[in-house]
Amino acid sequence: MRSVPPVNSILEHPAVAPYEPLVGRAALRAAIDAELDRVRAGAVALPLELIVEHVVERIEAQASQELRAVINATGTLLHTNLGRAPIAEPAFAAAWQIGRSYSNLEYDLAAGERGSRYARATAILCELTGAEDAIVVNNCAAAILLVLDTFARGSEVVVARNQLVEIGGGFRLPDVLARSGATLVEVGATNKVYAGDYARALTPRTSLLLRSHRSNFTLEGFVADVSGEELAALGRSAGVAVVEDLGTGAIVDLSEYGLSHERTVAEAVCDGIDLVTCSGDKLLGGPQAGIVVGRRSHVARLRANPLVRALRVDKVTLALLTATLRLYRSPQTRESIPLFRMLAQPLESLLERARTIAQCVPEARAIETQAYVGGGSLPDARIPSAGVAIRTPHADDLAERLRRWRVPIVARVERERVMLDMRTVASNEDRELIAALEALQD
Ligand SMILES: *Cc1c(COP(=O)(O)O)cnc(C)c1O
Repeated sequence: MRSVPPVNSILEHPAVAPYEPLVGRAALRAAIDAELDRVRAGAVALPLELIVEHVVERIEAQASQELRAVINATGTLLHTNLGRAPIAEPAFAAAWQIGRSYSNLEYDLAAGERGSRYARATAILCELTGAEDAIVVNNCAAAILLVLDTFARGSEVVVARNQLVEIGGGFRLPDVLARSGATLVEVGATNKVYAGDYARALTPRTSLLLRSHRSNFTLEGFVADVSGEELAALGRSAGVAVVEDLGTGAIVDLSEYGLSHERTVAEAVCDGIDLVTCSGDKLLGGPQAGIVVGRRSHVARLRANPLVRALRVDKVTLALLTATLRLYRSPQTRESIPLFRMLAQPLESLLERARTIAQCVPEARAIETQAYVGGGSLPDARIPSAGVAIRTPHADDLAERLRRWRVPIVARVERERVMLDMRTVASNEDRELIAALEALQD
């Protein structure tokens, strides 16, 4: 048997040790054992450095297949491919308590009998949005499905032609309407729609007036839309329910953060919209969830639909969502939601961090950039930001090596340079960026 280096000398090697917090000691040991078995079986003794290199390759090969944390240096705050909104730590603390033990999920402790799974989420949703009632399902797509199945089966739904959006991932409003057994009645032109268009489309078979957020495109130029308030008034006078698919789910006014005003859930409720749907993991900054808020009688009809059981959310998701929503009660706690912390970063401090990183890499420069909200939310919304630009004729190659780094780093490639935007990088990730850039420079 060939002599091999002691396991500890590899575990503690500076190229291997940083993987321990990422993949765990057991996985490290397994990779080392497998490699040492191979060395023992081989014909020649290998130097320690080569063994270490093979161990790292094994860990990398395994880790790249796992669901893992990455550093988002794209500058897109809500990146659907990167898991949309990161969740606030206090929300995890709450979810940890609920997830690891039994809970009163569906149990009324005062009465000693069955209680409502959704009561707490509903209470805080009503508090924040001014709605009378609310319900939570798996995602916004499920929320729309539930609304259409409850109200629109076998009837007509009126939608403006300029809002017939494809959200992405195969979710097209016209197709979802067709699947739910509703007949789509398109009104208006590609660019313009007026209240009169909706009014003329009403028939005895009309069940819903549906308004949709544009999410991932904008219309500019000669355009006209019907306001939520006008549509709500029309629905009320015609006795037809009005639904608004807000998607984005802004709870607070983003103009506080230097973005343009984005319609909030509370504004839609205030306009008199009967049911408002939105996502939990976009501008709300929580877990994947679909939220419907609105009038008591309308939400009661949703709750009575057997589909609710099929679309029901898990206790951990409910705990995360409820705890995230409670963080909105004050501006201080709100900034423990990563999305708001990122939005609130002053440009000067981002520039400062970019300069510190750029100093460590000869080809890098700190520059001013633009970060994006993204995530099928605000296609136009840009925020001044700062980043590190690395000019290289092999930009794609460097970007790939960053993605393969021990903590994968996802960057933007713009022509002959790789761009790392600091707006979406947490300050405690800067050291990892520096380590990667130092190790990867040619
Ligand atoms: C994002 C979005 C959806 C889909 O939301 P999910 O939570 O991803 O299912 C639906 N409608 C609009 C307007 C959206 O922006």
